[in-house]
Amino acid sequence: MNSLPKSVVIVGGSLSGLFHGLYLKRNGSNVVILEQDPNNFRSSHQAGIAYGYAVEEILHRYDATGLQPCTPSVATRIAYHRRQHFMQLGIIRHLTSWGLLYRILRANFDGMMSDAVPNPPLPMPGDGEGAYLVGRRVTSLEPEHGMVKVGFITSDGEEGFLYADLVIGADGVHSTIRNLVHAQVTKEYSGYVAWRGTICECELVPATALYFADRTSLNFLSDTYVVSYIIPPDSGSFTPGTRLVNWVWPSKPDPLATAPCNPPRRSRSPLCGSHLLTRHPFITKVNDALCDRAVFFNGKVILVGDAFATFRPHFAVATEQAARHCLGLGRVWGGEMTLQEWEEEAKTWGKTQWLRGRILGAFGTGRWWEFVKGLWKYVAFVVGLKVRGINFQGLGGQH
Ligand SMILES: Cc1cc2nc3c(=O)[nH]c(=O)nc-3n(C[C@H](O)[C@H](O)[C@H](O)COP(=O)(O)OP(=O)(O)OC[C@H]3O[C@@H](n4cnc5c(N)ncnc54)[C@H](O)[C@@H]3O)c2cc1C
Repeated sequence: MNSLPKSVVIVGGSLSGLFHGLYLKRNGSNVVILEQDPNNFRSSHQAGIAYGYAVEEILHRYDATGLQPCTPSVATRIAYHRRQHFMQLGIIRHLTSWGLLYRILRANFDGMMSDAVPNPPLPMPGDGEGAYLVGRRVTSLEPEHGMVKVGFITSDGEEGFLYADLVIGADGVHSTIRNLVHAQVTKEYSGYVAWRGTICECELVPATALYFADRTSLNFLSDTYVVSYIIPPDSGSFTPGTRLVNWVWPSKPDPLATAPCNPPRRSRSPLCGSHLLTRHPFITKVNDALCDRAVFFNGKVILVGDAFATFRPHFAVATEQAARHCLGLGRVWGGEMTLQEWEEEAKTWGKTQWLRGRILGAFGTGRWWEFVKGLWKYVAFVVGLKVRGINFQGLGGQH
């Protein structure tokens, strides 16, 4: 496949689906996104998105809203127990909310109007068609007459189907497409959960709001840590006082065992007390998954984003992976690389991040034996890459 497919069906209308949809539509393909959720206006699940070069590149090329998409974080500050300014690292990531990125991408893809984007951009010369159909759960895939037939069920229970030259499976960690193509996947529960939530800056005392204002904070405690950073609400306001402090706290399933604010413990997070202001915290089991292939049906079905590889959230690279997949496929469609080369690169980068997520997760939650095993596997993997002459630097970095 070395040219752009004419008709594309994308399964899953979250960030991976929208990156690929926007890229293809802007380059002239006709794209239909099928999303099982019946709502157009979906919200972030109380967590922020961190992103880097690849997302930035897609927005730079294809976002015509002119809106600010993120709040740049100038650095990462490490706090260790009560030492709130223990260390500072020059890691710069762009931080935003899922809901804002979703609204910006929808405005560009199918002109969806929202509180964040009240005036969506008009289609551009050379654009293909972009349709985003909600309430469509994909249930079947069949190769037919050189195309792929995609079967779905609507939220009213009606059955339907579409034909496409290419099907992109962007349907997340529990991917249906991955099951339908019988992909081999290593899927595991980490043994811990992540609590997360947001607090409006306006609810914090000024000193606490200032502490979180312009940097990502990692607060290491006994056998756990809390990561916090500023994000905009889904409506896209960046005015200080309206933004949200987003926090994520990996913990053993029994929260009392490691609670950062548990009085008897000798260490407390700077967010302690403040994070109790979160009215509706979320709890998610931390899983990861890694597929052995991304390309199926002779290149007519491709898995991308979390459907291909889901990482433990410690390095926050899921959204970046989705955008990297998209830019890489762009190079395939532009004739700069083959689909097999793209798949190899996606597998190597995916496995690198999958291993790194496991190491940091084990370190941050005080699972020392798991940490040593993870580190050993990572070193063996990196040495294997070096021996095979694969450029590890390029794969591990942002570009
Ligand atoms: C509503 C929502 C809010 C999120 N909020 C955050 C957040 O705040 N912070 C964060 O770090 N990550 C968040 N995520 C996850 C984040 O989007 C991903 O980890 C990452 O960006 C890669 O996403 P993805 O598009 O590959 O997969 P996902 O984001 O998991 O999206 C998969 C999509 O596929 C759809 N789908 C699944 N099966 C089918 C099917 N059979 N037919 C049709 N559609 C199907 C799902 O409904 C979903 O919309 C959120 C995801 C969703 C769906």
